[in-house]
Amino acid sequence: MLTRTYHSSVVGRSASIRRMRRRSMATRLYCRTNGCTSFLELQPETALAVCPVCGYTRQLD
Ligand SMILES: [Zn+2]
Repeated sequence: MLTRTYHSSVVGRSASIRRMRRRSMATRLYCRTNGCTSFLELQPETALAVCPVCGYTRQLD
């Protein structure tokens, strides 16, 4: 998980979104907040998923 956190801070947003779209779990992490078309970034440490574009945060189980 350290690797992904590192990449999230270094790689640009579009590259991050492209990578997440290939993940099977990406569909349930689709933001949709106010028409936002980005995917949430999963943060296993805090059980939260955060949208890098609009800042929306979703609590995971
Ligand atoms: Zn969003």
